[in-house]
Amino acid sequence: MKDSSCIFCKIANGEIPSTTLYEDEDFRVILDLGPATRGHALLLPKEHYKDLFDLDDETAAKVLIRAKRIAGRMRTALGADGLNLVQNNGEAAGQTVFHFHMHLIPRYQEDHAGILWKPGSTTAEEMEEVKRLVDSQ
Ligand code: AMP
Ligand code: ZN
Repeated sequence: MKDSSCIFCKIANGEIPSTTLYEDEDFRVILDLGPATRGHALLLPKEHYKDLFDLDDETAAKVLIRAKRIAGRMRTALGADGLNLVQNNGEAAGQTVFHFHMHLIPRYQEDHAGILWKPGSTTAEEMEEVKRLVDSQ
């Protein structure tokens, strides 16, 4: 299913032009217009899924296989020292475009891209509580 009001549906299906690094029948990988680092790319399914929870299992599996393949090519071609896969779900998690996408962010020593978090703290009680809640689902 495509969503006629979704910009990533239009980009993924070629109705809006993009700088495309990879395309197959299910996915398109484009360069992000507001890159965190040089080569920051987005893997977009051609069908509309709003987020991770909307993906069927077959597509979800294909996402990681494609991401692995393209990320490997990008790392070599761009001489990256590392690479982050980032995938945001929901406004609280920083999602701004509500068509599932995986960020492929090449990393370079000292690039200072602000992607990682400052470690917080927890307690044994909190960890037990989280485990109990997740186990109960
Ligand atoms: P997120 O915050 O995870 O929803 O990521 C959305 C990403 O899409 C951001 O990194 C934006 O820079 C990027 N973006 C938004 N519109 C476009 C566009 N038309 N072409 C390429 N990248 C885009
Ligand atoms: Zn869409």
